[in-house]
Amino acid sequence: MDFRHFTLLVLGLLCGPTTATALTDGPYVFQHGARQEAHWICDGEVQTRPIADDGKVKPICGLVPTLQLEAEKIIAADHLPSVRRWAAVSDIHGQSELLLRLLRAQKIVDAHNNWSWRRGVLVVVGDVMDRGPQQLDALWAVYRLSQQARLAGGRVEMLLGNHEIMVLKGDLRYLHQKYLAVAQLLGRSYDQLFAADTELGAWLRGRATVLKLGDTVITHGGLHPKFADQALDIASINSSFRDFLRQPSLQEDPRIAWLLGNDGPTWYRGYFPPMPAESSQIQALLKQAKATRIVVGHTTQPHIRSLYQGGVIAIDAGLKNGQSGELLIFDKGRLWRGLLDGRREALLQE
Ligand code: ZN
Repeated sequence: MDFRHFTLLVLGLLCGPTTATALTDGPYVFQHGARQEAHWICDGEVQTRPIADDGKVKPICGLVPTLQLEAEKIIAADHLPSVRRWAAVSDIHGQSELLLRLLRAQKIVDAHNNWSWRRGVLVVVGDVMDRGPQQLDALWAVYRLSQQARLAGGRVEMLLGNHEIMVLKGDLRYLHQKYLAVAQLLGRSYDQLFAADTELGAWLRGRATVLKLGDTVITHGGLHPKFADQALDIASINSSFRDFLRQPSLQEDPRIAWLLGNDGPTWYRGYFPPMPAESSQIQALLKQAKATRIVVGHTTQPHIRSLYQGGVIAIDAGLKNGQSGELLIFDKGRLWRGLLDGRREALLQE
């Protein structure tokens, strides 16, 4: 038994069945000298392939299908015009198969997990990373769907949640233990597998944090009522997060520190007990944002809920448990809860 196998065996014994069985993950695509390489772990063995000039990555093992690398072409939006139908899902937390099951059930992707929603818009409202064992698969799934949707005239927008920001800045406390073994085998710390020179690291660093889609503001945690006191400048919020991810020392800047903190859009929980904001504050916020509603994830609910007479929609319905989950759908001028069995239920106001 060589050292690597011994390490895996020890990690397996420490981490339980997921890593005790053969570890498979990938691809991680990063720069090696002048060229890009793709790395997999197949049954505990590192496999490396150079990326061909056409940017295609064919699978060696694992769940991720053939990829076309083009992170720089997937441009995030701050604002999108209203569309006839859109959907939003959040807090996937490493449950890729459950996410895809939900998207298949609601016919947003087909039986092969390819985009089938034509000109629809899907917003992934942050926290794809951490907790669960399929975060890489989930990130590549969103990346691929972004490309496919664009070609079909639709759109997929991935917004950053607090957990993407934590991993990118090297706070790895919530990672599934599987990924510690992956990082060790690949010889980089796990956050360095998402450094700016990696394909997914570059893609994530280009994402938005707040999106206005027609009359709906969408963000992972929420907008603090303080935003009612000033014109809501979504482009500037998004560029502040991007600037911070490029240059972490900017967290010393008081405005950026506030945006990154508990009252900022990726962490805020103030629409929920124990101290929910007043209705009048939500009305003022919506008026300032020229919006009908704010859609948020981050604070887990038993199902998708409409709060504040429809002014706030809470969509984290607990996909992180790996068992259940829901998707918010806007279609035919109404909001629906998209369920895992394919049914839709009209979203009722509480
Ligand atoms: Zn969160």
